[in-house]
Formats: sequence, C-alpha cells, structure tokens
Amino acid sequence: MSSHAHRNSDSGPGIQTLAIHAGEHPDPVTKASSPNLVMSSTFLADPDASFSAEGSHEDEGYFYSRWSNPTVAQLESKLAALEGTESAMAFASGMAAVNALFLHCLRPGDHLVMGDIVYAAVSETANDLLLELGIKISRVDTSDPAAVETALRENTRLVYIESPCNPILRLTDIAAIAKLLRGTKARLAVDSTFATPVATRPTDYGADFVIHSLTKYLGGHGDAVGGALLGPTEDITEIRRKAGIRMGGVLSPFNAWLILRGLATFPLRMRAHESAAMDVGRFLENHPLISRVYYPGFESHPQHELAARQMNNFSGMLTFQTERHAELPHLLAENLEIIHYAVSLGHHRSLIFYIPTEEILKTSFKLTEQQNEAYREFAGDAIFRLSVGIEDSKDLCADLERVFSKLT
Ligand SMILES: *Cc1c(COP(=O)(O)O)cnc(C)c1O
Repeated sequence: MSSHAHRNSDSGPGIQTLAIHAGEHPDPVTKASSPNLVMSSTFLADPDASFSAEGSHEDEGYFYSRWSNPTVAQLESKLAALEGTESAMAFASGMAAVNALFLHCLRPGDHLVMGDIVYAAVSETANDLLLELGIKISRVDTSDPAAVETALRENTRLVYIESPCNPILRLTDIAAIAKLLRGTKARLAVDSTFATPVATRPTDYGADFVIHSLTKYLGGHGDAVGGALLGPTEDITEIRRKAGIRMGGVLSPFNAWLILRGLATFPLRMRAHESAAMDVGRFLENHPLISRVYYPGFESHPQHELAARQMNNFSGMLTFQTERHAELPHLLAENLEIIHYAVSLGHHRSLIFYIPTEEILKTSFKLTEQQNEAYREFAGDAIFRLSVGIEDSKDLCADLERVFSKLT
C-alpha cells in the first residue's frame, strides 16, 4: 500500500501536473496544443476490421465512437493517471458507471455487500433492479468494518462503499475493508465522488475499483453530466466491450472535452472548496439557528480522525440541521441570491438542497427499522446538504444570513 506522499514525491509528476498534462497529446496533424474535440461518430476503417465487439482490440485505432473516441480516450487516460489505476472508462453519467460495475461483478445468486447509506439512485437500483436479477444484498453500515465482516458470505462478489457518503458524509475506512477481503472472491469498489483523487486514491488503500460522477467535482462547472469507472485493465477491457459497446452508455466527446477542461484546474478548485467550506461551516456552527453541522474537516465530525488519515483535502460538502427546517426550503429557494437551491454538487457555484429524513428513508433507502434509527440519530428530522462552491466565502455566509434572519 502506497501512501499519499507518494504522489508528490520524486517518483512521478505531482497531481496538478497530471491534471493538466496526463493523457493529453498535441494533435499530430495540426500540432494543436489543446485536446481536439473529435465529434466524429465513425472513423475510416481497415477493410479487414471485424464488425463485432468480440473482434475489437484497444490498440487497433478508432473505429466507431461507441467503441472509443480520441477525445474521450484522452479523458480516460487522464482519470487513470489521477487515480493511479491501470485503466478507466468514461460513461454517460455516474449512474451508468455504477450499473456497468454491477453487471460486471454480479450474477444471479451472487451476494453484494453495500453501504446502507449510499447515493439515492444507487440504493434504488439495488432495491429494484438488482433484487429482480436475483442478486442477494446485505446493506450494512460500512463505517463499521466489523459489520462488513459479519455480512460477508462465501458468495460475496462485491463490496460497494461511498466515502464520504452522500448525503450524510459518513466515512468508511477503505484499508480496513480491503484487508477483510484479502483472499476472498469479493472485489472492493469505492465511489469516491465526494473525496476526489486530491483527497483520497482508493486503490492506494487496496480498493479494486473507483467510481466517479464526473458531473461533480472533476468536471466541476455544472455543465456536463458524465461518469467514470476505474480499475485493472483486464476488467475495464471487458466492461468496455459489454457495458460500453453493447449497452451503449458512453460519454459524448463534447462532454469529455468540457470535463477535460474542468479537470485541468480541479486540484486548485478542491483547495478553494475546502477553504470556503471551512469558513461557511464555522459560520453555521456559530449560528443560533443551526443545531448541528457535519464536515469531515471539523473535529466535531464523529470520524474526524479517520478523515484526517484518509483524506488529503476535506472537500466542499457539508450538511447542517435546524429545528426550523420545514420553513427553510421555500425561504432559501426564494431569497438566496448567490447559492442556488438545486440538486447536484461539486460545481464552482454553491448549491443547497433539503433532504427530509422520513422521505428519503421511505423512497430511497428502505432499510431495517434499526438502520432507520441510526440514520435518524445522524440526520435528525432533516438535513440541508450544502455544496460549498468557490465563490468568496464571506458572500456565501452573507447570502445564508440574509435568509436565516427572516426566521430570527
Ligand atoms: C451524483 C452522484 C452519483 C451519480 O452520478 P450522475 O453523474 O448524476 O449519474 C453517484 N454517486 C455519488 C456519490 C453522487 O454524488
């Protein structure tokens, strides 16, 4: 297991250099310095080329943009370099990447161990599609490695975690889970959308696969939906053949080009996100209307020690609670002038959204009553999920204060 220091040591380029240069190459014909946007759906073919995905080989050049595309390929190489994985595949969305992973790792009768609190649509996929396909699922609090150990079975093929998890920012000790899986047939996948490779590279801690919603921090500008699945070349080649070429959920070259451009500044943005989140988080902690703030960078976070160990950057996501929660969504949506009341996260622009506890437990999670209780303890009646952008933090605090003052 290599450590974070490794990345900025003499052994290779630092993350800012990788974010700008990795995977990119000047156009051989025009000598253009920036990545070309190649929108072509098809490419002049070798008359001996096979028409089937079975006959496709990565090193044969471009054939059809559902197979691979020069702009998307540059993004994929950059992502693999940033995460330190052998390969990466870009998808039309984060959810397409998640589903590609499930289809790759799981067959009817197989067992999946999944975090009890994960991105709502992932939870809903497990509750609906995966159960229908005959996958056995154990939902556990993966922040407790003992709970994961207890859940493991002979036929467990995948352990799926998010760290920090959406929406409550609970962390999982990736190295501890990876250790449990050593010598078993279960692979470990980490959705690292909230952390980003600036904070944590899950494969440094023994994960097999990394998932990203590129829509969030990596693209970073709220203008392109995309996803990525990263891991060993052997797996990604098969995933490209099945989930890419056959199921077809590939990323548009235009979105790849936007995300490539966003990626160049992403390490800088993460520092700005963290710094603004610290300021806004402190403002919230000191506000009489706010009863609780969760931010992995604060000592008040129940897993701050793990966060400090596993994250080189605490990212820009925080949640807060207030007794007056029911009155706030309308006031926020109508009166905020800078922060947008909207879903999604990780954009340069700050975003806030209201997540009432009973509703998300019922519609998305569908857990045991004991797990519901644990969620209620963490989240109270409702949380506000705030994705702190990279505006000036004083302006963000003033924007929130303007709305809070209507209630005090
Ligand atoms: C947004 C998100 C996803 C889904 O990504 P899309 O690009 O919206 O499909 C998956 N996991 C996490 C943690 C997310 O925040």
